[in-house]
Amino acid sequence: MEISKCLIIGAGPAGYTAAIYASRANLSPILFEGTQPGGQLTITTDIENFPGHPDGITGPALMADIRKQALRFGADIKSGTVTAVDFSKRPFEVTVNGADTYYAHTVIIATGASARYLGLADEQKYMGLGVSACATCDGFFYRKRTVAVVGGGDSACEEALYLSNIAKKVYLIVRKPALRASKVMQERVLNKENIEVLFNCNTVGLFGEEVVEGAKLVENKGTANERILDIAIDGFFLAIGHNPNTEVFKDYITLDKDGYIVLQGNTSATNVEGVFAAGDVADPRYRQAISAAGMGCRAALDAEAYLRDNDL
Ligand code: NDP
Repeated sequence: MEISKCLIIGAGPAGYTAAIYASRANLSPILFEGTQPGGQLTITTDIENFPGHPDGITGPALMADIRKQALRFGADIKSGTVTAVDFSKRPFEVTVNGADTYYAHTVIIATGASARYLGLADEQKYMGLGVSACATCDGFFYRKRTVAVVGGGDSACEEALYLSNIAKKVYLIVRKPALRASKVMQERVLNKENIEVLFNCNTVGLFGEEVVEGAKLVENKGTANERILDIAIDGFFLAIGHNPNTEVFKDYITLDKDGYIVLQGNTSATNVEGVFAAGDVADPRYRQAISAAGMGCRAALDAEAYLRDNDL
């Protein structure tokens, strides 16, 4: 039976950075990339706040660079999705694609988070027919059309701005009376002439013959001024945050009420000794590429110390 010293699950900034550090520490890590190699950054546009890139860099280019850096030091990067784990056994058992079993003395979970949906039946009905959670993937199809983005955070503002350069008009549907995004993003959105922000609005449904042709909103819900509002749109983009990808680990790993992995003190350790976590999967607060990368570094250093302390 072949046992890896370090098995990394996830291919975003956290996973790849963990792979760089683990390779350089001679742990010969295996990393499984899952269904979205490069993670969420591969579906964003320009990254302007990753140190070392004064002129900005695209998400895919940044991830390709970090991946290349991990390969340079010998990380074994494999495609494949981890479908089950058994953290009650030593070494740990990890099943990939429901078929292949791998064994490891340490595991670093860096599976990130996935886009959240409102939970409307219409989102399923029109999935791929006007509903999307990725403006940079699908924005191209809405050239000179009208689209809506839901959300009031940095992601929603970023998506709205991106789409405003492609579409004729962009509605930003915000459930509260204010945006939550950083000041600079708020200003950009509010100053963009073809973005209209609809504050105090909740989406209750979508309509259209075969594809999305409009959205039904409720404005000022529960107040004397409540009214129903139909807007004509061709595309409906979700940008209301993310859910951590922890389903596979929930039988073993302690999660918080929102499903994020709970870390022990100021470390990357989970409740299971030898299992560490890094990046958005364990970070409901900062969720930045650079903080995820930092967490990946810490997880690899913690894994290395654990192996040393346990003579593994
Ligand atoms: P956030 O959690 O910051 O924002 C989510 C937004 O969606 C909020 O406005 C929230 O409304 C709204 N929302 C949530 N659920 C619903 C719902 N059911 N119906 C309607 N609206 C809903 O998520 P983001 O993805 O925007 O950002 C995550 C993190 O990543 C943040 O820390 C952000 O700063 C960061 N980020 C940074 C970027 C940058 O620096 N360039 C770019 C993108 C993200 P409400 O305000 O009412 O809660």
